[in-house]
Amino acid sequence: MSRFSSGKTLTRPDELIAAGWAAPAQAKELAEVAARYSVAIPAGVAALIERPDDPIGRQFLPDAAELRTLPQERADPIGDDVHQVAPGLIHRYPDRALLKLTGVCPVYCRFCFRRARVGANNPAGPQGVLDEAALDEAFAYLAAHREIWELIVTGGDPLAVSERRLADLSRRLRAVDHIKILRFHSRVPALTPERITPGLIAALKASGKTLYVALHANHPRELTPEARVACGKLIDAGVAMVSQTVLLRGVNDDVETLSALMRAFVEARIKPYYLHHGDLAPGTSHLRLPLDVGQNLVRGLLGRLSGLCQPIYVVDIPGGHGKAPAGPAYVAREGAGWLIEDWRGGRHVYGDDAGSARKKP
Ligand SMILES: *Cc1c(COP(=O)(O)O)cnc(C)c1O
Ligand code: SF4
Repeated sequence: MSRFSSGKTLTRPDELIAAGWAAPAQAKELAEVAARYSVAIPAGVAALIERPDDPIGRQFLPDAAELRTLPQERADPIGDDVHQVAPGLIHRYPDRALLKLTGVCPVYCRFCFRRARVGANNPAGPQGVLDEAALDEAFAYLAAHREIWELIVTGGDPLAVSERRLADLSRRLRAVDHIKILRFHSRVPALTPERITPGLIAALKASGKTLYVALHANHPRELTPEARVACGKLIDAGVAMVSQTVLLRGVNDDVETLSALMRAFVEARIKPYYLHHGDLAPGTSHLRLPLDVGQNLVRGLLGRLSGLCQPIYVVDIPGGHGKAPAGPAYVAREGAGWLIEDWRGGRHVYGDDAGSARKKP
């Protein structure tokens, strides 16, 4: 951690050039990128970057390629706006709603699907969290919709807000009986593990709800010893943890890296949950992969790794239509029965009872 032990968060292109991660000649382009999409690299994350194009550098260092926006890319790639029911509250599926508590993250990912809304682009301003009036509106909706069983708290990064605000959220939620599950999506336990304090855990627990934290991590190097300790603290306090990973070119697009990442999660008592196909966020095409590349990587995990290590590969359909499983298919109709593929690629005929009972249309 020598070079970055000062604890300073790097945000400006000249700081990145001084760190040796970009050439002085790139200053102008990088300034353009940083003006469009926020940059923040805390000291602990900076210490993980060995080379600018390594799997950590590619996730967090701005790149001139971000200035190129493809026609299919959009500011709201997964259609949050279509289902917004109160400020920061998205209700897309019947049994769960999603609250964007803040537009701030301790570290800004270059592939972020909400990059047109977070950091300096946050509609509530660069430091913006939902204010009292907005939270009142969101909670009025939550209280009136008894079908909402789970609240997903996201952002930005919800575990980056103050303990006082988290405790306030918990206090409000305590009063909403029909919400049983509270799920936080965060990078904090891995990338700024010093934030996982007894005070933060107490603030979360004050909700009295069943708590889940979905840890966002994309490369095994993010699961440092400090990160594992922080996750252990959450889990020992009764918080269940799952993972989410974004499939990224040059970061985790090989079977060895994905295997090591999924095993690292399971070793840390974190159940792999989603492997996301890269969303069509503006200026991210250099980090996205074709869907069939993702499917082949998932094939590489199946059978070779414990079932505990298998994430679900999902793609979020643009326009707000939700997530769809995008993994490879192993079962196909074959006459009156089925053809099933095994993990080595062998094919097997399977005749089920329902098949023979099927009526011809
Ligand atoms: C991803 C997402 C959810 C959560 O979906 P799960 O499949 O339950 O993880 C909920 N609401 C919105 C708007 C989402 O984008
Ligand atoms: S932590 Fe999440 S919201 Fe924040 S920049 Fe990364 S992907 Fe976007």
